[in-house]
Amino acid sequence: MKLIDLSQPVFDGCPNCPADPPVQSRLICRPGKDGWRVEQLTLTSHTGSHIDAPSHKILGGPHIDELSLESFTGRAVLADLRDSRPGQPFTSTWLARKLRVELAGHIVILVTGWGAKRARTEEWLGLSPYVSPDAAEWLVEQEIRGVGIDHYSIGGMREPQNSRTHEILLGAGVWILEDLNAPDELWSLSQPLEFWALPINLRGHSGAFCRPVVVVR
Ligand SMILES: [Zn+2]
Repeated sequence: MKLIDLSQPVFDGCPNCPADPPVQSRLICRPGKDGWRVEQLTLTSHTGSHIDAPSHKILGGPHIDELSLESFTGRAVLADLRDSRPGQPFTSTWLARKLRVELAGHIVILVTGWGAKRARTEEWLGLSPYVSPDAAEWLVEQEIRGVGIDHYSIGGMREPQNSRTHEILLGAGVWILEDLNAPDELWSLSQPLEFWALPINLRGHSGAFCRPVVVVR
């Protein structure tokens, strides 16, 4: 068995959503001095590869620890969106053209290629292509289980689109995995892929970090 890592690294000052405070990792114990090495992390629950729970946008919606772990594993299909332009909204028509396979019960991984651009540039921070509200409706109609994207915001940075896209998906119980990385190796595999992304157990939180992997047997 082999695991392909789809996560983005978390580290001091790593690129993150500009609406959130900067990520900090500070050594609070040093091996030479204290006999131990310990880091103190300051970061939001939506940093690095993470899953949004419904409570991120839906008042009274379930938190990340209230969702079944089984829902974060399953068969995944890739959408090749690497030909998208900066700032392009993915419409339902565009996604339907890119995803001509069975989607019910599947996890959809939207590969824009922007995972490889992850850096604190004006482009990565504010100009990513994104899922429009009408494409979010379409994904819900396909009865998908969850959706992942290789950028920190599935709905881009503009309002009200970003809020609407999140509300439609999370309101329908479709989880969202953001800030993943999609290595080229994935394209050589036959689909659907076996996918796992278990969020850590943050009680009562609106999202949590996870380690998304594709299992190759
Ligand atoms: Zn999030």
